[in-house]
Amino acid sequence: MTKLSNRVLEMEESVTLAASARAAALKAEGRDILSLTLGEPDFVTPKNIQDAAIKSIQNGKASFYTAASGLPELKDAINVYMTKFYGYSVARNQIVVGSGAKFILYAFFATVINPGDEVIIPTPCWVSYVDQVKMVDGVPVTVQTVESNDFKVTVEQLEAARTDKTKAILLNSPSNPTGMIYSRDELQAIGEWAVEHDILILADDIYGRLVYNGNEFTAISSLSEAIRKQTVVVNGVSKTFSMTGWRMGFAVGEPEIISGMAKIISQTTSNLAAVTQYASIEALTGDQSSIEEMRQAFEERLNTIYPLLCEVPGFEVVKPQGAFYLFPNVKKAMEMKGFNDVNDFTNALLEEAEVALVTGAGFGAPENVRLSYATDLDTLKEAVRRIKAFMEA
Ligand code: PMP
Ligand code: GLU
Repeated sequence: MTKLSNRVLEMEESVTLAASARAAALKAEGRDILSLTLGEPDFVTPKNIQDAAIKSIQNGKASFYTAASGLPELKDAINVYMTKFYGYSVARNQIVVGSGAKFILYAFFATVINPGDEVIIPTPCWVSYVDQVKMVDGVPVTVQTVESNDFKVTVEQLEAARTDKTKAILLNSPSNPTGMIYSRDELQAIGEWAVEHDILILADDIYGRLVYNGNEFTAISSLSEAIRKQTVVVNGVSKTFSMTGWRMGFAVGEPEIISGMAKIISQTTSNLAAVTQYASIEALTGDQSSIEEMRQAFEERLNTIYPLLCEVPGFEVVKPQGAFYLFPNVKKAMEMKGFNDVNDFTNALLEEAEVALVTGAGFGAPENVRLSYATDLDTLKEAVRRIKAFMEA
């Protein structure tokens, strides 16, 4: 008999991490694989942030445990950041810091979900939300959004999905995988709906500063006092500051939920590595010029690679507004090459074109594939050239 819990038996491994590991394994075997799998900036963490980390090690500060929910100085830095980019300030008891936004999301679900509680998740969505809700015995209620509405959920759709068990709704704007951004009006309508029905809003704003071509990010929590009280913001330094390996995420919300999340952290991971906390203070409050340089590099990549991808036979692509993903619909491409399953199509691209993408299936989108453009332009251009050659063969 299996020794595994039903929880683990029912879980999927992270599709993004699995795709990236598979590409790395093939590369290690000597294959010339171009990997556009991971949403991970390819830049080295800016020097001022590295220096702050090194200093904290050398002056002995990084040697010790910190408060489980994060250093008070880091919470103050998060407050400075919130004031600057969200337009409102928060107290220390409204902030919790943890080991990556991914674990912060899990801590949120573990804090608010009782068995059977429902979380509305508009899809296509990032690969970890659904499994995390299941891990705490919640029920993920996925709502399929349509490409003609830029993959954005409407209040009508939310209302149709609402039951007396609905506890929270998840919003991720700019979105992984679609790159779409909700407008102020759309967010206002969703926020008012959530307030009216006392449904928590989990706002995963991790791509909020990665927006391009004049598009703007609006934080739902900044729209009104009532909406803010209903919202828990999740954010982190991984994407904006090119710090995926450092593993810092944080949440901002009402003290009751935040202290619940702090309890989860105190009984699981304890504090986020102290060295990362010191580095994050510098990231959030130090010189921001390198951040803008990285944003501009992503913008240039998007503007270069998008028209090339549009030329690939059978690929239909909506131009993303933020994050660093392209999410083409490949239904026609699959028909042209005789595939009915996007996983098989993605595997064929890997085996024959030696380009690793992530299957849309993991995002709840069986007609799409995801390309991350968080990699250098030469690799991107060559990858699209190979995909095109594969389609034209
Ligand atoms: N949310 C979204 C939408 C993401 O794409 C990611 C990717 N890593 C995360 C959260 C988690 O980020 P991290 O754990 O690196 O802070
Ligand atoms: N979020 C990134 C991605 O979607 C990193 C991998 C992960 O955590 O899923 O590729």
